[in-house]
Amino acid sequence: MSSVRVRFAPSPTGKLHVGNMRVALANYLFARVNKGVFLLRLDDTDVGRSTEEFAQGIQEDLRWAGIEWDEFARQSDRLTRYDEVAAQLRQSGRLYPCYETPEELDLKRKSRLSQGRPPVYDRAALRLSDQDRARLEGEGRKPHFRFKLEERAVEFVDLVRGAQSVDETSQSDPVLVRADGSYLYTLTSVVDDIDLRISHVIRGEDHVTNTGTQIQIFEALGAKSPRFAHLPLLVDASGAGLSKRLGSLSIADLRAQGIESLALAGLLARIGTSDAIELVSGMEPLIDGFDFAKVARASPRFSMDELMQLNARTLHHLDFAAVTGRLKEIAPGADEAFWLAVCGNLSTLADAASWWQVVQGPLQPMIEDAAFSAQAASLLPAEPWTQASWKSWTAAVASATGRKGKTLFHPLRLALTGREHGPEMQNLLPLIGRARAAARLSGQTA
Ligand code: GLU
Repeated sequence: MSSVRVRFAPSPTGKLHVGNMRVALANYLFARVNKGVFLLRLDDTDVGRSTEEFAQGIQEDLRWAGIEWDEFARQSDRLTRYDEVAAQLRQSGRLYPCYETPEELDLKRKSRLSQGRPPVYDRAALRLSDQDRARLEGEGRKPHFRFKLEERAVEFVDLVRGAQSVDETSQSDPVLVRADGSYLYTLTSVVDDIDLRISHVIRGEDHVTNTGTQIQIFEALGAKSPRFAHLPLLVDASGAGLSKRLGSLSIADLRAQGIESLALAGLLARIGTSDAIELVSGMEPLIDGFDFAKVARASPRFSMDELMQLNARTLHHLDFAAVTGRLKEIAPGADEAFWLAVCGNLSTLADAASWWQVVQGPLQPMIEDAAFSAQAASLLPAEPWTQASWKSWTAAVASATGRKGKTLFHPLRLALTGREHGPEMQNLLPLIGRARAAARLSGQTA
Protein backbone atom coordinates (compact mmCIF):
# COMPACT_ATOMS: atom_id res chain seq x y z
CA MET A 1 0.00 0.00 0.00
CA SER A 2 1.28 3.40 -0.94
CA SER A 3 1.50 5.97 1.83
CA VAL A 4 0.23 8.72 -0.44
CA ARG A 5 -2.88 10.34 1.02
CA VAL A 6 -4.13 13.58 -0.43
CA ARG A 7 -7.20 15.73 -0.01
CA PHE A 8 -9.19 18.20 -2.02
CA ALA A 9 -10.63 20.65 0.50
CA PRO A 10 -13.16 23.08 -0.94
CA SER A 11 -15.28 25.35 1.21
CA PRO A 12 -18.97 24.89 0.38
CA THR A 13 -19.44 28.64 0.14
CA GLY A 14 -19.83 28.76 -3.63
CA LYS A 15 -19.80 26.72 -6.79
CA LEU A 16 -16.70 24.91 -8.03
CA HIS A 17 -14.97 26.72 -10.87
CA VAL A 18 -12.26 25.71 -13.30
CA GLY A 19 -9.51 26.77 -10.90
CA ASN A 20 -10.85 24.54 -8.10
CA MET A 21 -11.43 21.69 -10.51
CA ARG A 22 -7.83 21.83 -11.63
CA VAL A 23 -6.68 21.48 -8.02
CA ALA A 24 -9.14 18.64 -7.44
CA LEU A 25 -7.86 16.88 -10.52
CA ALA A 26 -4.19 17.30 -9.57
CA ASN A 27 -4.95 15.70 -6.19
CA TYR A 28 -6.94 12.90 -7.76
CA LEU A 29 -4.39 12.10 -10.47
CA PHE A 30 -1.50 12.22 -8.01
CA ALA A 31 -3.35 9.81 -5.70
CA ARG A 32 -4.12 7.41 -8.54
CA VAL A 33 -0.66 7.41 -10.15
CA ASN A 34 0.79 6.61 -6.73
CA LYS A 35 -1.90 4.06 -5.85
CA GLY A 36 -2.75 6.23 -2.87
CA VAL A 37 -5.91 7.57 -1.27
CA PHE A 38 -7.90 10.59 -2.45
CA LEU A 39 -10.04 12.27 0.14
CA LEU A 40 -12.75 14.89 -0.22
CA ARG A 41 -12.87 17.24 2.73
CA LEU A 42 -15.49 19.93 3.07
CA ASP A 43 -14.07 22.97 4.85
CA ASP A 44 -17.38 24.12 6.26
CA THR A 45 -16.46 25.81 9.52
CA ASP A 46 -17.71 29.16 8.21
CA VAL A 47 -21.32 28.44 9.12
CA GLY A 48 -22.55 31.80 7.88
CA ARG A 49 -21.41 31.18 4.33
CA SER A 50 -21.42 27.39 3.95
CA THR A 51 -24.57 25.78 2.60
CA GLU A 52 -25.70 22.20 2.05
CA GLU A 53 -26.68 23.13 -1.48
CA PHE A 54 -23.11 24.14 -2.34
CA ALA A 55 -21.81 20.99 -0.58
CA GLN A 56 -24.07 18.82 -2.76
CA GLY A 57 -23.18 20.80 -5.87
CA ILE A 58 -19.46 20.25 -5.29
CA GLN A 59 -19.95 16.51 -4.98
CA GLU A 60 -22.11 16.42 -8.07
CA ASP A 61 -19.52 18.36 -10.09
CA LEU A 62 -16.69 16.08 -8.98
CA ARG A 63 -18.63 12.93 -9.85
CA TRP A 64 -19.56 14.40 -13.20
CA ALA A 65 -15.88 15.05 -13.88
CA GLY A 66 -15.06 11.41 -13.11
CA ILE A 67 -13.34 12.24 -9.82
CA GLU A 68 -14.35 9.66 -7.21
CA TRP A 69 -13.13 10.04 -3.64
CA ASP A 70 -12.03 7.15 -1.43
CA GLU A 71 -12.72 8.92 1.86
CA PHE A 72 -14.87 11.83 2.94
CA ALA A 73 -14.63 14.27 5.83
CA ARG A 74 -16.52 17.34 6.90
CA GLN A 75 -14.98 19.85 9.27
CA SER A 76 -18.29 20.59 10.95
CA ASP A 77 -18.24 16.97 12.24
CA ARG A 78 -14.92 17.51 13.94
CA LEU A 79 -15.51 20.53 16.16
CA THR A 80 -14.82 18.74 19.45
CA ARG A 81 -11.47 17.67 18.09
CA TYR A 82 -10.61 21.31 17.25
CA ASP A 83 -11.64 22.28 20.81
CA GLU A 84 -9.13 19.75 22.14
CA VAL A 85 -6.33 21.03 19.95
CA ALA A 86 -7.10 24.66 20.76
CA ALA A 87 -6.92 23.83 24.47
CA GLN A 88 -3.58 22.12 23.89
CA LEU A 89 -2.19 25.18 22.07
CA ARG A 90 -3.45 27.52 24.77
CA GLN A 91 -1.74 25.43 27.38
CA SER A 92 1.55 25.56 25.55
CA GLY A 93 1.19 29.33 25.20
CA ARG A 94 0.96 29.34 21.41
CA LEU A 95 -2.69 30.39 21.30
CA TYR A 96 -3.57 33.55 23.22
CA PRO A 97 -6.78 35.47 23.86
CA CYS A 98 -7.18 38.95 22.35
CA TYR A 99 -9.95 41.43 23.06
CA GLU A 100 -9.58 44.17 20.46
CA THR A 101 -12.68 45.05 18.49
CA PRO A 102 -12.42 45.31 14.69
CA GLU A 103 -12.56 49.11 15.06
CA GLU A 104 -9.68 49.12 17.54
CA LEU A 105 -7.61 46.91 15.26
CA ASP A 106 -8.34 49.23 12.39
CA LEU A 107 -7.12 52.23 14.36
CA LYS A 108 -3.93 50.40 15.30
CA ARG A 109 -3.34 49.48 11.68
CA LYS A 110 -3.82 53.05 10.50
CA SER A 111 -1.58 54.53 13.15
CA ARG A 112 1.25 52.10 12.32
CA LEU A 113 0.87 52.84 8.62
CA SER A 114 1.00 56.59 9.27
CA GLN A 115 4.27 56.01 11.12
CA GLY A 116 5.59 54.18 8.09
CA ARG A 117 5.60 50.84 9.92
CA PRO A 118 4.14 47.58 8.60
CA PRO A 119 0.56 47.11 9.83
CA VAL A 120 1.37 44.05 11.93
CA TYR A 121 -0.57 43.19 15.08
CA ASP A 122 1.39 44.56 18.06
CA ARG A 123 0.70 41.63 20.41
CA ALA A 124 -0.71 43.97 23.02
CA ALA A 125 -2.92 41.13 24.25
CA LEU A 126 0.16 39.18 25.33
CA ARG A 127 0.90 41.90 27.86
CA LEU A 128 -2.51 41.74 29.54
CA SER A 129 -2.62 40.59 33.15
CA ASP A 130 -5.21 38.19 34.53
CA GLN A 131 -7.00 41.19 36.04
CA ASP A 132 -7.03 43.01 32.69
CA ARG A 133 -8.62 40.01 31.07
CA ALA A 134 -11.17 39.61 33.86
CA ARG A 135 -12.07 43.29 33.51
CA LEU A 136 -12.46 43.06 29.73
CA GLU A 137 -14.61 39.97 30.00
CA GLY A 138 -16.59 41.71 32.74
CA GLU A 139 -17.34 44.41 30.14
CA GLY A 140 -18.85 41.66 28.03
CA ARG A 141 -15.97 41.29 25.58
CA LYS A 142 -15.46 37.83 24.16
CA PRO A 143 -11.90 36.88 23.22
CA HIS A 144 -10.71 35.76 19.84
CA PHE A 145 -7.49 33.76 19.76
CA ARG A 146 -4.28 34.32 17.87
CA PHE A 147 -1.47 31.90 17.17
CA LYS A 148 1.89 33.18 18.36
CA LEU A 149 4.21 32.92 15.40
CA GLU A 150 7.87 32.29 15.88
CA GLU A 151 9.56 35.25 14.22
CA ARG A 152 11.68 33.48 11.67
CA ALA A 153 11.65 32.29 8.11
CA VAL A 154 9.97 28.96 7.50
CA GLU A 155 11.60 26.86 4.82
CA PHE A 156 10.20 24.00 2.83
CA VAL A 157 10.71 22.35 -0.51
CA ASP A 158 7.69 22.68 -2.76
CA LEU A 159 7.15 19.98 -5.37
CA VAL A 160 6.31 22.62 -7.97
CA ARG A 161 8.13 25.74 -6.81
CA GLY A 162 11.29 24.22 -5.36
CA ALA A 163 12.96 25.60 -2.22
CA GLN A 164 10.74 28.15 -0.47
CA SER A 165 11.30 30.49 2.40
CA VAL A 166 8.31 32.27 3.96
CA ASP A 167 9.29 35.16 6.21
CA GLU A 168 7.05 35.14 9.27
CA THR A 169 8.64 38.15 10.94
CA SER A 170 6.51 40.71 9.13
CA GLN A 171 3.21 38.91 9.66
CA SER A 172 0.50 39.38 12.20
CA ASP A 173 -0.16 36.48 14.50
CA PRO A 174 -3.08 34.82 12.72
CA VAL A 175 -6.49 34.57 14.35
CA LEU A 176 -7.37 30.87 14.63
CA VAL A 177 -10.51 31.11 16.78
CA ARG A 178 -13.10 33.82 16.28
CA ALA A 179 -14.87 35.59 19.14
CA ASP A 180 -17.96 33.44 18.51
CA GLY A 181 -15.83 30.34 19.11
CA SER A 182 -15.73 29.28 15.46
CA TYR A 183 -12.44 28.11 13.97
CA LEU A 184 -10.51 29.41 11.03
CA TYR A 185 -9.38 27.18 8.23
CA THR A 186 -5.70 27.80 9.00
CA LEU A 187 -6.02 25.70 12.16
CA THR A 188 -8.68 23.19 11.21
CA SER A 189 -6.86 22.28 8.02
CA VAL A 190 -3.69 21.42 9.93
CA VAL A 191 -5.58 19.37 12.51
CA ASP A 192 -7.30 17.40 9.75
CA ASP A 193 -4.11 16.96 7.76
CA ILE A 194 -2.52 15.45 10.88
CA ASP A 195 -5.45 13.25 11.91
CA LEU A 196 -6.21 12.06 8.39
CA ARG A 197 -2.50 11.38 7.78
CA ILE A 198 -2.27 13.58 4.71
CA SER A 199 1.09 13.03 2.99
CA HIS A 200 0.91 15.80 0.38
CA VAL A 201 -1.00 19.08 0.37
CA ILE A 202 -1.69 20.05 -3.23
CA ARG A 203 -3.36 23.44 -3.66
CA GLY A 204 -3.20 26.81 -5.40
CA GLU A 205 -0.22 29.09 -4.92
CA ASP A 206 -2.42 31.67 -3.20
CA HIS A 207 -1.84 29.48 -0.12
CA VAL A 208 1.96 29.71 -0.04
CA THR A 209 1.92 32.29 2.76
CA ASN A 210 -0.49 30.14 4.77
CA THR A 211 1.96 27.32 4.40
CA GLY A 212 4.59 29.11 6.50
CA THR A 213 2.07 29.60 9.29
CA GLN A 214 0.66 26.12 8.95
CA ILE A 215 4.11 24.52 9.16
CA GLN A 216 4.58 26.36 12.45
CA ILE A 217 1.25 24.93 13.66
CA PHE A 218 2.25 21.41 12.62
CA GLU A 219 5.43 21.88 14.63
CA ALA A 220 3.60 23.35 17.62
CA LEU A 221 1.45 20.22 17.64
CA GLY A 222 4.47 17.96 17.47
CA ALA A 223 3.52 16.66 14.02
CA LYS A 224 5.55 16.23 10.87
CA SER A 225 4.45 18.53 8.04
CA PRO A 226 3.20 16.97 4.84
CA ARG A 227 4.94 17.75 1.57
CA PHE A 228 3.50 20.71 -0.32
CA ALA A 229 2.79 21.35 -3.99
CA HIS A 230 1.43 24.76 -4.94
CA LEU A 231 0.06 25.13 -8.45
CA PRO A 232 0.27 28.50 -10.20
CA LEU A 233 -3.16 30.06 -10.59
CA LEU A 234 -4.95 30.12 -13.94
CA VAL A 235 -5.19 33.46 -15.74
CA ASP A 236 -7.31 34.63 -18.66
CA ALA A 237 -6.08 35.60 -22.13
CA SER A 238 -5.10 39.09 -20.94
CA GLY A 239 -3.03 37.61 -18.11
CA ALA A 240 -5.47 38.70 -15.39
CA GLY A 241 -6.61 36.34 -12.67
CA LEU A 242 -9.77 34.39 -13.42
CA SER A 243 -11.53 35.47 -10.26
CA LYS A 244 -13.52 38.26 -11.90
CA ARG A 245 -14.97 35.89 -14.42
CA LEU A 246 -15.39 32.89 -12.18
CA GLY A 247 -19.14 33.21 -12.24
CA SER A 248 -19.18 32.23 -15.89
CA LEU A 249 -16.56 29.55 -15.41
CA SER A 250 -18.34 27.49 -12.80
CA ILE A 251 -18.39 23.79 -13.53
CA ALA A 252 -22.18 23.82 -13.42
CA ASP A 253 -22.30 26.50 -16.09
CA LEU A 254 -19.74 24.80 -18.31
CA ARG A 255 -21.79 21.65 -18.04
CA ALA A 256 -24.92 23.56 -19.00
CA GLN A 257 -23.02 24.97 -21.97
CA GLY A 258 -22.39 21.42 -23.15
CA ILE A 259 -18.79 20.88 -22.09
CA GLU A 260 -17.92 17.19 -21.95
CA SER A 261 -16.33 16.08 -18.68
CA LEU A 262 -13.54 14.36 -20.57
CA ALA A 263 -12.66 17.53 -22.46
CA LEU A 264 -12.56 19.54 -19.25
CA ALA A 265 -10.44 16.94 -17.48
CA GLY A 266 -8.11 16.68 -20.48
CA LEU A 267 -7.57 20.42 -20.51
CA LEU A 268 -7.27 20.98 -16.76
CA ALA A 269 -4.94 18.02 -16.20
CA ARG A 270 -2.41 19.30 -18.67
CA ILE A 271 -2.81 23.06 -18.71
CA GLY A 272 0.45 24.66 -17.62
CA THR A 273 2.44 21.44 -17.97
CA SER A 274 4.96 20.27 -20.54
CA ASP A 275 2.41 17.76 -21.89
CA ALA A 276 0.41 18.85 -24.93
CA ILE A 277 -3.31 19.33 -24.45
CA GLU A 278 -4.89 16.78 -26.71
CA LEU A 279 -7.79 14.43 -27.03
CA VAL A 280 -7.77 11.69 -24.39
CA SER A 281 -9.83 8.54 -24.30
CA GLY A 282 -10.37 8.58 -20.53
CA MET A 283 -8.68 9.27 -17.20
CA GLU A 284 -6.03 6.56 -17.62
CA PRO A 285 -3.60 8.50 -19.84
CA LEU A 286 -4.01 11.53 -17.57
CA ILE A 287 -3.19 9.42 -14.52
CA ASP A 288 -0.22 7.68 -16.16
CA GLY A 289 1.27 10.97 -17.31
CA PHE A 290 0.83 12.92 -14.10
CA ASP A 291 4.05 14.33 -12.64
CA PHE A 292 4.74 17.56 -10.72
CA ALA A 293 8.04 17.79 -12.57
CA LYS A 294 6.01 18.69 -15.67
CA VAL A 295 4.22 21.65 -14.06
CA ALA A 296 5.60 25.02 -15.19
CA ARG A 297 6.04 27.92 -12.78
CA ALA A 298 4.28 30.45 -15.04
CA SER A 299 0.54 31.07 -14.70
CA PRO A 300 -1.28 29.02 -17.32
CA ARG A 301 -3.75 30.77 -19.58
CA PHE A 302 -7.21 29.31 -19.55
CA SER A 303 -8.97 29.77 -22.86
CA MET A 304 -12.62 29.01 -23.44
CA ASP A 305 -11.89 28.67 -27.18
CA GLU A 306 -9.32 26.00 -26.49
CA LEU A 307 -11.81 24.17 -24.27
CA MET A 308 -14.51 24.39 -26.95
CA GLN A 309 -12.13 23.02 -29.57
CA LEU A 310 -11.13 20.13 -27.35
CA ASN A 311 -14.81 19.58 -26.61
CA ALA A 312 -15.62 19.25 -30.29
CA ARG A 313 -12.70 16.87 -30.88
CA THR A 314 -13.81 14.82 -27.89
CA LEU A 315 -17.34 14.48 -29.29
CA HIS A 316 -16.02 13.58 -32.73
CA HIS A 317 -14.35 10.53 -31.22
CA LEU A 318 -16.88 9.44 -28.63
CA ASP A 319 -18.34 5.97 -29.11
CA PHE A 320 -22.07 5.66 -29.52
CA ALA A 321 -22.12 3.51 -26.37
CA ALA A 322 -20.60 6.36 -24.37
CA VAL A 323 -23.33 8.82 -25.33
CA THR A 324 -26.40 6.62 -25.85
CA GLY A 325 -28.18 7.61 -22.64
CA ARG A 326 -27.68 11.34 -23.06
CA LEU A 327 -28.29 11.23 -26.81
CA LYS A 328 -31.65 9.50 -26.37
CA GLU A 329 -32.82 12.40 -24.23
CA ILE A 330 -32.32 14.92 -26.98
CA ALA A 331 -32.84 12.69 -30.01
CA PRO A 332 -35.18 9.87 -29.05
CA GLY A 333 -34.77 6.95 -31.41
CA ALA A 334 -31.28 8.00 -32.49
CA ASP A 335 -29.19 4.98 -33.40
CA GLU A 336 -25.53 4.33 -34.05
CA ALA A 337 -25.79 5.16 -37.75
CA PHE A 338 -27.18 8.58 -36.84
CA TRP A 339 -24.42 9.15 -34.27
CA LEU A 340 -21.69 8.17 -36.71
CA ALA A 341 -23.21 10.40 -39.37
CA VAL A 342 -23.38 13.55 -37.23
CA CYS A 343 -20.80 13.30 -34.42
CA GLY A 344 -18.10 14.85 -36.56
CA ASN A 345 -20.18 18.02 -36.90
CA LEU A 346 -20.91 18.64 -33.25
CA SER A 347 -19.46 21.33 -31.02
CA THR A 348 -21.65 20.21 -28.14
CA LEU A 349 -23.87 17.18 -27.79
CA ALA A 350 -26.93 19.43 -27.82
CA ASP A 351 -26.17 20.20 -31.48
CA ALA A 352 -27.25 16.62 -32.23
CA ALA A 353 -30.86 17.69 -31.61
CA SER A 354 -30.92 19.90 -34.69
CA TRP A 355 -29.39 17.15 -36.85
CA TRP A 356 -32.01 14.76 -35.54
CA GLN A 357 -34.59 17.25 -36.72
CA VAL A 358 -32.89 17.32 -40.12
CA VAL A 359 -33.12 13.56 -40.34
CA GLN A 360 -36.58 13.08 -38.84
CA GLY A 361 -38.28 16.28 -39.88
CA PRO A 362 -40.37 18.23 -40.07
CA LEU A 363 -38.00 20.42 -42.00
CA GLN A 364 -38.68 23.21 -44.39
CA PRO A 365 -36.47 22.68 -47.42
CA MET A 366 -34.62 25.49 -49.17
CA ILE A 367 -35.28 25.29 -52.88
CA GLU A 368 -32.95 27.26 -55.14
CA ASP A 369 -34.19 25.95 -58.48
CA ALA A 370 -37.56 24.19 -58.37
CA ALA A 371 -37.27 22.58 -61.81
CA PHE A 372 -33.88 21.13 -61.01
CA SER A 373 -35.05 19.81 -57.60
CA ALA A 374 -38.12 18.21 -59.13
CA GLN A 375 -36.00 16.50 -61.76
CA ALA A 376 -33.60 15.26 -59.05
CA ALA A 377 -36.58 13.93 -57.07
CA SER A 378 -37.77 11.93 -60.05
CA LEU A 379 -34.37 10.25 -60.23
CA LEU A 380 -34.29 9.07 -56.60
CA PRO A 381 -33.49 5.35 -56.59
CA ALA A 382 -35.71 2.78 -54.93
CA GLU A 383 -34.99 1.84 -51.33
CA PRO A 384 -33.24 0.18 -49.50
CA TRP A 385 -30.57 2.86 -49.40
CA THR A 386 -26.98 2.56 -48.36
CA GLN A 387 -24.05 4.96 -48.22
CA ALA A 388 -23.55 4.27 -51.92
CA SER A 389 -27.02 5.58 -52.81
CA TRP A 390 -25.97 9.24 -52.69
CA LYS A 391 -23.20 8.64 -55.20
CA SER A 392 -25.31 6.70 -57.65
CA TRP A 393 -28.21 9.13 -57.38
CA THR A 394 -26.09 12.26 -57.87
CA ALA A 395 -24.34 10.59 -60.81
CA ALA A 396 -27.75 10.05 -62.41
CA VAL A 397 -28.75 13.67 -61.68
CA ALA A 398 -25.45 14.88 -63.14
CA SER A 399 -25.91 13.05 -66.38
CA ALA A 400 -29.56 14.09 -66.71
CA THR A 401 -28.92 17.78 -65.99
CA GLY A 402 -25.32 18.33 -67.05
CA ARG A 403 -24.57 19.89 -63.66
CA LYS A 404 -21.48 19.08 -61.67
CA GLY A 405 -19.53 20.17 -58.61
CA LYS A 406 -21.08 22.85 -56.42
CA THR A 407 -23.98 23.59 -58.78
CA LEU A 408 -24.98 19.95 -58.52
CA PHE A 409 -24.41 19.23 -54.84
CA HIS A 410 -25.20 22.53 -53.15
CA PRO A 411 -28.90 22.80 -54.14
CA LEU A 412 -29.43 19.15 -53.22
CA ARG A 413 -27.96 19.65 -49.76
CA LEU A 414 -30.04 22.82 -49.27
CA ALA A 415 -33.24 21.09 -50.31
CA LEU A 416 -32.62 17.97 -48.23
CA THR A 417 -31.23 19.55 -45.04
CA GLY A 418 -32.23 23.21 -45.17
CA ARG A 419 -28.59 24.13 -44.48
CA GLU A 420 -25.46 25.17 -46.31
CA HIS A 421 -23.15 22.79 -44.50
CA GLY A 422 -23.28 19.63 -42.47
CA PRO A 423 -22.40 15.98 -42.24
CA GLU A 424 -21.58 14.03 -45.36
CA MET A 425 -24.66 13.61 -47.51
CA GLN A 426 -23.86 9.97 -48.23
CA ASN A 427 -24.45 9.31 -44.49
CA LEU A 428 -27.45 11.59 -44.09
CA LEU A 429 -29.42 10.49 -47.15
CA PRO A 430 -30.21 6.95 -45.97
CA LEU A 431 -31.28 8.37 -42.60
CA ILE A 432 -33.61 10.90 -44.23
CA GLY A 433 -35.15 8.15 -46.35
CA ARG A 434 -36.88 8.25 -49.70
CA ALA A 435 -40.29 9.62 -48.71
CA ARG A 436 -38.92 12.64 -46.87
CA ALA A 437 -36.24 13.25 -49.51
CA ALA A 438 -38.83 13.24 -52.30
CA ALA A 439 -41.13 15.59 -50.43
CA ARG A 440 -38.36 18.05 -49.56
CA LEU A 441 -37.06 18.09 -53.13
CA SER A 442 -40.60 19.03 -54.17
CA GLY A 443 -40.55 21.96 -51.73
CA GLN A 444 -42.76 20.37 -49.08
CA THR A 445 -42.08 20.50 -45.36
CA ALA A 446 -41.36 16.93 -44.34
N1 GLU B 1 -10.62 25.36 2.00
C1 GLU B 1 -9.37 25.82 1.46
C2 GLU B 1 -9.66 26.48 0.12
O1 GLU B 1 -10.66 26.20 -0.46
C3 GLU B 1 -8.44 24.65 1.31
C4 GLU B 1 -7.05 25.01 0.97
C5 GLU B 1 -6.15 23.82 1.16
O2 GLU B 1 -6.16 22.94 0.29
O3 GLU B 1 -5.47 23.73 2.20
O4 GLU B 1 -8.90 27.30 -0.33
